[in-house]
Amino acid sequence: MSVLPQLKVQTRVSRLPDSFYRRVDPQPLNNPYLVAFSPTVADLLDIDPLLFQDQQLVNLLSGSEISADSDPIAMLYAGHQFGHFVPQLGDGRALMIGEITDSGGSDWEIQLKGSGLTPFSRMGDGRAVLRSTIREYLCSEAIAALGIPTTRALCITGSNDAVYRERPETAAVLTRLAPSHLRFGNFEVFFYRQQYAELKILADFIIEHFYPDCSTAENPYSEMLRQVIERTARLVAQWQLVGFTHGVLNSDNMSMLGLTIDYGPYGFLDTYQSAFVCNHSDELGRYAYDQQPRIGLFNLSCLAQAMLPLLDEDSGEQAAEHAKQLLADYQPAYLAHYYRGMAAKLGLQSFREGDEVLISSLFELMEQAVDFTNFFRRLSNTDLAEDNDSRMRDMFIDREGFTAWQQDYLARLEADATDQETRRRQMLAVNPRFVLRNYLAQQAIERAEEGDFSEVEILHDLLQHPFDEQPEREEYAAEPPDWARHIDLSCSS
Ligand code: AMP
Ligand code: MG
Repeated sequence: MSVLPQLKVQTRVSRLPDSFYRRVDPQPLNNPYLVAFSPTVADLLDIDPLLFQDQQLVNLLSGSEISADSDPIAMLYAGHQFGHFVPQLGDGRALMIGEITDSGGSDWEIQLKGSGLTPFSRMGDGRAVLRSTIREYLCSEAIAALGIPTTRALCITGSNDAVYRERPETAAVLTRLAPSHLRFGNFEVFFYRQQYAELKILADFIIEHFYPDCSTAENPYSEMLRQVIERTARLVAQWQLVGFTHGVLNSDNMSMLGLTIDYGPYGFLDTYQSAFVCNHSDELGRYAYDQQPRIGLFNLSCLAQAMLPLLDEDSGEQAAEHAKQLLADYQPAYLAHYYRGMAAKLGLQSFREGDEVLISSLFELMEQAVDFTNFFRRLSNTDLAEDNDSRMRDMFIDREGFTAWQQDYLARLEADATDQETRRRQMLAVNPRFVLRNYLAQQAIERAEEGDFSEVEILHDLLQHPFDEQPEREEYAAEPPDWARHIDLSCSS
């Protein structure tokens, strides 16, 4: 019997026709060991945490040992990378090894990322380095704890096998999970190949398992697309509200379920910079923080185009018109989510006309000057009407500008007539104390590369409760030290 009896090797996706994936075994790593595991995710899957002491589980999740009945698959997809269509991508270093049903009856696809070559590896080596698996592991769980939809991370296994990037590094495998890892790119590949039968099979599959209420709609495919647009608008708004920049928002990194997926050179804002670019390789700033809402729409347009044959079988023109109408809902949906969320961050009971000016003038004052996370947290804790000290004001370069903003803000709060304590409590529940600042991840990585994984565990635990004061870990809320201003992140992972 397998060390993970709940792992079913036959998955929902593996029952799709062969054209959707290739069967391929992982390539073993030498002497794999456990780097980290998430007790939260283990609990979600009903996996006994003690099992992580069992070398057999480490072997299984590093791809070093495969059970006789296993049937791992690499999915085929395409995608628009930095605006250019690439007709074939696919899981170049990820394999789905099975599925686990949680105690609530939900199914989770289990993927190994970094488990070796697949037919879709192109120029890559099929591997992931320890550094990049730690970044994905920590961020998936941090984003989940912030209440934002995401793929999850169960554990990291590592090996001393060398992997060459800009420098020699060591190999690691991330075990990640999601109800589905399907992407916009899974549609794009079949549209490009004019395999419209596959488009239909894929859409029917997604509706059956993930959007069942669409099946009774007049056009189920149109209704599914409408819901994907809505989920994506909400997801991007949630990113903006916590200052998260994904870094590589290619359409193959966009989930059909509206999950954050494929963490690479992501970044959380320290000092507020509207045009923050976290990916050093993104020279034109295509995926800058303030471009994400627009890029969400671009990617949805790629998906809509790939779904055209499903929207109207008879008339291409009508299908295109239909898609246009659906896409027109994106911007208003995004703004509704964003403004509702911003109102909550400011402790307003609802968003009212005119509040957009209050919000945009605040961000103008914060630009290049004020720490995003710490500002909203401090604002939550300060009774501005009573505020005699100047600590809030001192965060700003334009202190007079902030004083003027504060008057407008106080006037707006009065219109709500919420008592100070209620507002404080509400604000503390939406303005995190701790986010995965890049320098924190970097510190954990540097220690881990020396064989000390304790900082990875500390950060994981800290970020499980991002909204709680954790007095003994106060230093993790600090703005980046000087050395950290020079960390460059690229796509290399
Ligand atoms: P990403 O931008 O990291 O999501 O990856 C884009 C594409 O490149 C996907 O098809 C990946 O599977 C593939 N890829 C990235 N890194 C590697 C690697 N080291 N080996 C093989 N394929 C890779
Ligand atoms: Mg990707």
